Amino acid sequence: MPKTIVIFFGPPGSGKGTQAEMLAKLTGWKKISTGDLFRAEIAAKTKLGILADRYIKQGKLVPGKVTASLVEKSLKQKASGFIFDGFPRNRGQLKELLMIFAKIFKKKDQIYALEVAVSDREVKRRLGQRRLCACGKVYHLAYNPPINNGLCDICGGQLFTRNDDKPKVIAHRLKVYHHDGEPLLDYFKKQGKLIKINGEQAIAKIHKDIMEELSGLKLV
Ligand code: ADP
Ligand code: ADP
Ligand code: ZN
Repeated sequence: MPKTIVIFFGPPGSGKGTQAEMLAKLTGWKKISTGDLFRAEIAAKTKLGILADRYIKQGKLVPGKVTASLVEKSLKQKASGFIFDGFPRNRGQLKELLMIFAKIFKKKDQIYALEVAVSDREVKRRLGQRRLCACGKVYHLAYNPPINNGLCDICGGQLFTRNDDKPKVIAHRLKVYHHDGEPLLDYFKKQGKLIKINGEQAIAKIHKDIMEELSGLKLV
């Protein structure tokens, strides 16, 4: 069976993580989120985590080839498909990803980029009230609140705010996305491999749109 690879694109706070999680649950495809991988390294206080934290705090990309090697390691899992959230984020990473794909995937495997389009204004609204649990579940105080104030619905863990979800850092991350990340969409568009979704809708409606697009392409 050919494998499916869906690469989420979109500014920080566009809902990539939320949608990638819902898609992974439904399809059984494995989600690879480089942000989550880094946050796990930071929580475990590894050498890589300590280094990455310095950049993440400032809204800068973690430099070097370390992200690509984390991704390559994650691709060793057995799965019928993979969902990327947060990688690639610039030209160098796209090149690295294509090299990794060439080693691992076959011609018949299907690779699509999925853009979740959201304005900068909406991003700022969303990230200001994003809350996270250590188990990986993401909430929003107004749009997607937990049942019990401050506690995770899944594991009961204490919710926290990401320390890069601050106005100044958010503004820098948006700049980085528009400058380095967004231009990568052209590569997929030229090959007819770009799916564009309106991200300024309710979470359930976006999920429905994504499933309809993927089903139209016979990927689900
Ligand atoms: P990203 O992974 O792109 O940074 P997240 O999935 O973490 O984005 O979502 C950012 C914030 O916005 C979270 O607080 C999430 O609960 C909330 N959110 C996600 N999708 C929507 C949506 N369609 N409408 C409103 N809020 C959303
Ligand atoms: P968001 O979903 O809000 O854009 P992520 O969780 O994807 O945030 O990423 C958080 C931070 O982790 C980024 O701002 C960056 O510092 C770092 N990071 C994540 N993915 C990459 C990557 N592919 N390359 C370099 N740094 C990354
Ligand atoms: Zn939890």
